[in-house]
Amino acid sequence: MAPCLAPASRIGILGGGQLGRMLARAAARLGFDCVVFDPDQDCPAGRSAAQTVTAAYEDLDAVARFAQSVDAVTYEFENVPAATAQIAAAHAPLRPGVKALGVAQDRLTEKTFLNRNGAETAAFCAVQTGDDLTEALGELGLPAVLKTRRFGYDGKGQAVIRDKSEAAAALAVMNGQPAILEAFVDFARELSIIAARSADGAVQIYPLAENRHADGLLRESLAPAHIDPCVQEAAEVMVTGVLNALEYVGVIAMELFALGHGALLANEIAPRVHNTGHWTQDACAVCQFEQHIRAVAGWPLGDPAPHHAAHMVNLIGEDVDDWAQWLQIENAVLHLYGKRETRAGRKMGHVNVLSALSDR
Ligand code: AMP
Repeated sequence: MAPCLAPASRIGILGGGQLGRMLARAAARLGFDCVVFDPDQDCPAGRSAAQTVTAAYEDLDAVARFAQSVDAVTYEFENVPAATAQIAAAHAPLRPGVKALGVAQDRLTEKTFLNRNGAETAAFCAVQTGDDLTEALGELGLPAVLKTRRFGYDGKGQAVIRDKSEAAAALAVMNGQPAILEAFVDFARELSIIAARSADGAVQIYPLAENRHADGLLRESLAPAHIDPCVQEAAEVMVTGVLNALEYVGVIAMELFALGHGALLANEIAPRVHNTGHWTQDACAVCQFEQHIRAVAGWPLGDPAPHHAAHMVNLIGEDVDDWAQWLQIENAVLHLYGKRETRAGRKMGHVNVLSALSDR
């Protein structure tokens, strides 16, 4: 048995956004105190945590003091700098570990890793120069998607190339950063799977969610996705292979493309709780946030079976102004992130609208 944290132990969270906030709330219900580390003193997670450390992620002395002050450290975003993760891991168990961060931070490393571990992806080529791009387009054909290898999120740092004449403009979007060209996937649906691995290697997996994006942002998820059980099985095999290969501890999200004939391609993994798992908060006895905290604490994982179906709607930018209207809707559970400023494209909250499982 892996060592387990006693209730009232302290869990450190690198990153203080809404994911950190919801982790801190789940941890508090299990009797833990969370210490949130974020450069912004007024971050959303800080106001739900027992303590906040305000410092830059590059301030390694502050990171070391923070890690020494807690019993385990986790993170709510995948772009934790490598040096920060290493210092944290030197002073406290870091869950998930540095290996998962290294894989998830670079799309080339990630796709290579996924293919080697049983999760097929779209074909891809590394691209740095215009000549590389010409060669890669020759290999993969059109259309294709050019993406920065690092620091891309919510569709940022990406350009679709439908015609060779668009190649130069797409390369300009990369702004000189190393990139990856991917074959364009003519998917039927976008799915995601949220899974967890405990410190002693047990795995629990939630049902697939179907996700709809607009302008690169997740707008809504429907879960459990209406799919053939063999698609769920295939996704479970893929995510389990990845969890085991990473000797992973915590919750992971894998985004998938479902092709017309039901085959799956992995798009990316996020080594953390994920927006496409928010539906579990109100539709499952043990949600992704509690599941992650259980894993980080070395506790046994919970049952991921849902007791309801859920339609998760993200409140982006001014959508949040409708909060009072959502309160009127039967079976709608409102979650607001407490962000002081509403900005276009900013995730401000979400709603889980529940229905009977038999209705899906
Ligand atoms: P990503 O940042 O890789 O998650 O991509 C954001 C969104 O762009 C995905 O959710 C898809 O809707 C779309 N996308 C990404 N890669 C591809 C691809 N290779 N083919 C088609 N659509 C893609």
